[in-house]
Amino acid sequence: MDDNQAPSSRRQEGSHKDRRGSGGSGGPRAKTPDEWKEILEPDRYEVCINHGTEPPFSGRYNGYSPDGGYMCACCRAELFSSDAKFDSGSGWPSFWRPASEDNIEYVQDTSYGMTRTGVNCGRCGAHLGHVFDDGPAPTNLRYCINSLSLIHESDCREE
Ligand code: FE
Repeated sequence: MDDNQAPSSRRQEGSHKDRRGSGGSGGPRAKTPDEWKEILEPDRYEVCINHGTEPPFSGRYNGYSPDGGYMCACCRAELFSSDAKFDSGSGWPSFWRPASEDNIEYVQDTSYGMTRTGVNCGRCGAHLGHVFDDGPAPTNLRYCINSLSLIHESDCREE
């Protein structure tokens, strides 16, 4: 497992904690980290809830090209589409726009001595990755997303 995490400090960013209950009664936001731990595989929990990062070139969706939507691995909100996927060479699935801004939330991430813009699921608060301004036209954005935070729609059908 990737051990370059600092869960105790990251948890203070606390999107889950801060937003618990704000997503409507019984919605995914109502889940606590402990509840997610029972639901998610350990590697997904580390990325989605502890704001971890999967090793580059390790994820299922890096270099994955089937058409279709990519859902949140935690709550199944539609987050990205193959229409905006591109090969950034970074080792993580990369998109130049989300499927809908409504399902994305942006958070400032100052961990590791860097200032980055973190990207979370707008519905459940799961950590997805980061967005950078070195992407392709027309947005010039690069959403650098962990495969473990996503489920492609073709994989949803097999569940
Ligand atoms: Fe979600």
